[in-house]
Amino acid sequence: MNKELVVLKFGGTSVGTPARIVAVAERVKDHIERQGQQVIVVVSAMSGETDRLIDLAKKVGNSKTSHREYHQLLASGEQVSSALTALAIEAVGLKAKSLLAFQVGIQTRSTFGHNLIENVDTSKPRSLLEQGIIPVVAGFQGVDSYGDFTTLGRGGSDTTAVALAAAFSSCKCYIYTDVEGVYSAPPAVCKNAKKLERLTYEEMLELASSGAKVLQSRSVNLAYKHKVPLIVCSSFVEAEGTQIVEEYPGMENIIVSSISHRVDESKITIRDIPDVPGMAAKIFKTLSEANIVVDMIVQSEGQSGRAVISCTVPQEQGLTAADVLRELLVKEIKGSWIEVDNDVAKISVVGEGMRMHAGVAAQVFDILAREKINVQMISTSEIKISIIVKSEHAEHAVCVLHQHFLESA
Ligand code: ASP
Ligand code: MG
Repeated sequence: MNKELVVLKFGGTSVGTPARIVAVAERVKDHIERQGQQVIVVVSAMSGETDRLIDLAKKVGNSKTSHREYHQLLASGEQVSSALTALAIEAVGLKAKSLLAFQVGIQTRSTFGHNLIENVDTSKPRSLLEQGIIPVVAGFQGVDSYGDFTTLGRGGSDTTAVALAAAFSSCKCYIYTDVEGVYSAPPAVCKNAKKLERLTYEEMLELASSGAKVLQSRSVNLAYKHKVPLIVCSSFVEAEGTQIVEEYPGMENIIVSSISHRVDESKITIRDIPDVPGMAAKIFKTLSEANIVVDMIVQSEGQSGRAVISCTVPQEQGLTAADVLRELLVKEIKGSWIEVDNDVAKISVVGEGMRMHAGVAAQVFDILAREKINVQMISTSEIKISIIVKSEHAEHAVCVLHQHFLESA
C-alpha cells in the first residue's frame, strides 16, 4: 500500500534552539513511525535570525530589498536551520538530506521582491523519498533563472511548504508553530479566545490579511487555489490544531468565526480636493508608482465642491506615501492638504455566515457606539467587516465584539 505523503513545516520558534530542533526530529519520527506517513520537511530560519540579518544589512548601509545581495544574505538563515534539522533527524536514526532552493528547483521570477513561485520541480524530493531519505527543504528561498537566490517575503516558508504540497497532488500540509492553532481572537488581548477547530480558506485569508500572523496570506491563497488541506498546530504541545479547508458542515451557521486587529497601518487623509473627475486616479496612481500598498479607501463629499479622501497604508510606508502625495499636491492639486495619523488600529470581524445573515454590520456599530468608540473608516467584503478606530480603543473593541459574537451563544 502506498503511504500518505505529508509536508511538515516548522516555523522559527519551532527550530529556535538546538533542543527545539531535536524535538522537531522526534515529531518527524512520530509522523513516519507511528502515523505511517512519508514526509517532506520545510523549515524557517531559527527565530530572530532573519531580523538579525536584515539588521546587519542596515548596519553596512545597504538594505535595499531590490538588491541581489540582500536576498543572498537573507537566504542564509534557512540554510543553517535546514542542515541542522537534517543532522538532528539523522541523530534519531532516520535518513535525511537538506535541500536549498536551487537543489530542489523552486523557481521564481528575478525581481528580488515578494517573488511568486513559478515552478517547483518534484523530481529530487521524489527520488529521495523513494530511497527512504527525508527531504528537509530550506523555506523562504527561491532561485531565479540566473541561478541567484530570491526570497518569498517575510513569513515565506509557509508559501514554500504549500507550494511543495501543491506540487505533489492531494498532500496535506502541517504548519507547526508556537501556538495551538488559529483562535477566535488574539489570546493575548482576549482571555476568552477559543482555539478554532476549523476555518475555511476564505476566512483564513481575511484573517491573515487583517493581522493574524499565524500564516503568510500568500500561502493561504496558494493553498486555496490548489485545495491543499492545511493544519495549523503546535510543535510544543500535543493538541489538535486548526484545520483550514474549503468547506465544512454548518459553516454558514457560524456568523462570526474570529476577530483580529492590527496596529501597523497609517491613515492618510487628503482634504479640500476639487470634487471633479480624475482626482482619485491621480492620487492612487502616485501611490502605486511609489509601490505603496493601499488597504482601505474612503471618499466623502466635503463642502462647496471640495472632497476628502482617506486611505490606509502600511505604517512603514506612511512617510513615503505622504512625501509623494505632497509633491503631487504642490504640482497638480492646489489648495489640498494632507494629514497622517499613525494612531489607528484596524479591527476585522470575519465569518462565512455573514453571507447568509443580515445585520452583522449594524450589530458591530451598535456595540462600538455603546462603548463610545468612534468608527473612522469602514470596509466590507462578503465575509468580513473591517473598521478603523483610534489605537487606544483597539483591544477593548476586540474584547466587546468577541463577547457579543462568540461568547454569548
Ligand atoms: N525566515 C523568514 C522570516 O523570518 C521566513 C519565515 O520564517 O517563514 O520571515
Ligand atoms: Mg511564520
